[in-house]
Amino acid sequence: MDSRFRLFIRTAVVILVTCLLLQGCAGNRSQNDDPARQNQPEQTEHQQDDNSDMPDISGQPQDPQQDGVNDPNAGNVDEDGPNGDTGESGDHGDEPGEDNGGPEPIDLEAVKPNEAGKIMVVMFHRFIEKYEKGDKEFTMTFDAFRELLETLYTSGYRLISLNDYLNGHIDVPAGCVPMVFTFDDGTAGQFSLIEENGELKVNPDSAVAIMEEFNRLHPDFGLEGTFFVNLGNQTFGKTGTLQQRLQYLTDRGFEIGNHTYTHINLKTEAKTAEIIQKEIGGNQKKMYELIPGYTFTSFSLPYGQPSKDLMQYVIKGEYEGVAYENRAIMEVGWDPAQSPFSVNFDPLSTHRVRSPGIEPVINDLEWWLKNMKRSREFVSDGDPDTVTVPEGNADQVDQEKLGGRKLVIY
Ligand SMILES: [Zn+2]
Repeated sequence: MDSRFRLFIRTAVVILVTCLLLQGCAGNRSQNDDPARQNQPEQTEHQQDDNSDMPDISGQPQDPQQDGVNDPNAGNVDEDGPNGDTGESGDHGDEPGEDNGGPEPIDLEAVKPNEAGKIMVVMFHRFIEKYEKGDKEFTMTFDAFRELLETLYTSGYRLISLNDYLNGHIDVPAGCVPMVFTFDDGTAGQFSLIEENGELKVNPDSAVAIMEEFNRLHPDFGLEGTFFVNLGNQTFGKTGTLQQRLQYLTDRGFEIGNHTYTHINLKTEAKTAEIIQKEIGGNQKKMYELIPGYTFTSFSLPYGQPSKDLMQYVIKGEYEGVAYENRAIMEVGWDPAQSPFSVNFDPLSTHRVRSPGIEPVINDLEWWLKNMKRSREFVSDGDPDTVTVPEGNADQVDQEKLGGRKLVIY
């Protein structure tokens, strides 16, 4: 065999291996990808952030302090940041940074990982069979949800849990973009049980059943989601006991978060520390009664309304001997959230992107899918123990938030 032939074979093998490694995400990136080099579209980034400030969405918090928080070029944020250390270094079992073989090296120029980029935390509410008059953008049909999962999958998104996002444990293949699903209010369309021949089963007309079905076809998409519930209200329909309904979800690795006991408006209705603690601690107390040992770690603001001056009790408090502490607070949102490694990462102000609904709304998920440049998103390097960023984005990484992971700059 002459040396040219050997070289040819070797090149062919390298190409084949690269293709295999990229399979699953990188091959599907074209529709969203930025044809330009990724460090160039500075201007676009500003345009996007201008858009995300648009004040036209009902129910959206209009806090001017939010401005700039999501701007990767706001830069020069204090190392301490608004949140300090979030303690993300450690709930997850495995040791970051440890060399345990790890994934194969990737072609950085082909995959273009950017683990300082944004991650969409999607907010869902109601799911129904068919749109009716009066349905708003917080509602989507089961069919639209099925289609959405397909679109997300083929566009290279992969689901991770909210806690993995908060912990910076992001384990999706190279070239894929992690995404978080959250569901507020415990509606029956999100999840409910039905009884069939004396047995309780997931209602096929529910978002959970649709996700499970999708997961059977595409196990690599991920089956993750966090449900923010009000245990003093009707939660997940009426069939089975509340305990059985919650157990179904927790048994399958779905997360449950706190949304107050009765969906109280923290700005207008919960005006004392006592009421806030009763609503948030009371919800946790009820959860302990139903699923012993299950501690909520995150909170979603009902109506997206923060407390005016008692936020410390939303974060931390106690009710009838039950203490609680929320390390992340979900807002009713409009834009993608920060990378957990970003200098701007503040889990106590986690922005969410609203689900699509009956009418397109600026800054809903469909809008972002069309307008978000892949170069601004968190594109994974495929290795949860390394944080890989292009040179131009290196200043967006907060070393304190790496939690022992190795920083790779290219
Ligand atoms: Zn709600």
